[in-house]
This record gives sequence, C-alpha cells and structure tokens, in this order.
Amino acid sequence: MASDYGTHVEGIVIANGLSYARQLRPGQQLVIPAPEERGSHLLDLCIPRIDLRTRAELKMDWPPLSKTVHTVQSGENLWDIARHYNIDVPTLFGANESLDGGYIFPGDEIVVPSQKGVLVTVKGEKSLGEIADRYRVPLASVVRANHLNHDTRLVPGQEVFVPGGRPLERGTFIWPLVNFGRISSGFGYRYHPILRRRQWHSGIDLTASYGAPVKAARSGRVVSCGWNGGLGNTVILAHDMKFQTLYGHCSKLYVKRNQYVKKGQVIASVGKTGRATGPHLHFEVRKSGRAVNPLRYLPYW
Ligand SMILES: [Zn+2]
Repeated sequence: MASDYGTHVEGIVIANGLSYARQLRPGQQLVIPAPEERGSHLLDLCIPRIDLRTRAELKMDWPPLSKTVHTVQSGENLWDIARHYNIDVPTLFGANESLDGGYIFPGDEIVVPSQKGVLVTVKGEKSLGEIADRYRVPLASVVRANHLNHDTRLVPGQEVFVPGGRPLERGTFIWPLVNFGRISSGFGYRYHPILRRRQWHSGIDLTASYGAPVKAARSGRVVSCGWNGGLGNTVILAHDMKFQTLYGHCSKLYVKRNQYVKKGQVIASVGKTGRATGPHLHFEVRKSGRAVNPLRYLPYW
C-alpha cells in the first residue's frame, strides 16, 4: 500500500501507531504521511517483509514471468524503479541479494521481474509444491510463471519465481526489547526538522520505559561494552563473520567484554545516556561492518 502513495511502510506504521501487522481491516482509516525527501542513491527506509497481499492477489492467476535488467540512473531510487515497472519494492529486494546492504548506485544492475513476487534460489527443496506452500501461493501459479510442470524435480541453484510471494523473514534475530512503545526513529536519512538538514541514522530507535531489559538479538560475543560518545553506554555483539548488533543509550550494562551471550539474554537496561532526550534503545544491525536496516532482519511483531 505504501508504494501506492509514494511513501514507505514505516512512515505509515509510525504515523498510525500500528504494529507491523500483516492484515489491515477493511474500512480502517490510515494517515498517509507525505513522502520524505529521498537521497539520490539511497534506498531509504523500507520494510520488505510485510505481507499486505489482498485475497484476490493470493488467488490470482499469474502470467508467465520474464525478467529485465535495469541499470540504475543517477537520482533514481528503488521506488522510482518499482513504479516504472509496475511492481513493488519487496519484489526488487527478493530478486536482488545485492540490495541487502541498503544502497544502490548509478550504474548498478538490478534484476526486474515482470510481476510482483519473489525469486527463490533452490537449496534443499525437491518440488515446486514445497516452495508454493512455504510462500503460501497456489502451486498452479508457480508452475505457470516458471513454464514448468507440477512434477518438475528441482536442482539446487535453480531459480524459481514465486508470483505474489513476499521475501520471508530470516528468523535469525529477535527484537531486543519485549515491550516497547514504538519506533521513534527509523533507519536511513531523514530530514531533521530542527537542524533543518538531512541526517543519517544508522539504526532504529525504540522507545521503552527506563530500566526495561535489553536482550541480545542473537547469540554472540561482546566485542565492546562501555561509553561510546553520543550513544552513551553501549554494547556491541559480534554474531559471526558478517553480523554485529549494537545497543545504545543504556542505563546499566550487565555484560563484560569477550563474554559470550545467548539470544534473548539480558545484556543491559534501557536508559538515556549519551545524546538522548528520553529513554530509548538505539539498535543497529551491521553487516560486514556497514549499518543495514534492522527491520530487514527482525521478525514481524
Ligand atoms: Zn538512534
């Protein structure tokens, strides 16, 4: 829905105090915030995993798929590209692993499927039915879109397009707070109303009550723990070669450097240390050293 209004889902979610629920009620009224100024090569805020498919879309008969490669032009963002091809941003995410980092640059080549859906690379799946079930779409649609038969045996590495499918959550991270008020600030560039300039926000801010427990979003090792400038009391966890998470503005820290922590373990409590006007958690996910949109890695709530 967000793309219909040229804005992004997060804006709608925040403006309406919603959770990232999958279903909207018919007749429900939503505030549609004005589109924010967008960077020339930044994806901006986007939440690709929200499933807002209509009943008609779920049942629809999809035509066979074709793909084109789009070369990103200067000043273009993913919304422009999606709109131009009459698809949506999640479809572009689903078809291009390279978008995970959160940036596109002029000259980048992006795979553009001819219809909404997700491009799946076969790993262990044996049949199209397995894939159709996982993405909750009719098998017949998958068969037709891919010019295959119902009983086609899949081989690892094969690409299957799931029409109407949405990228599935990765399920590796959990929300660092059990109860929080809202996302008061999203990931990416935003226009600062007081400073009157664009500012980069490398994580998401979650409002919570002072002292609320902060949990490790995933098992890992504490690589940094202590005062971290404007972020105040901060914990940084390393999860594997690629991923780190960061928890800022904490009041108390309950872990030590080099300590191993389990997913869900309480590592700190919410505070307002550093540059913070009220108690909140600044949460970051870093992939290969670069901050990425945490909402891409967190489950629905
Ligand atoms: Zn923040």
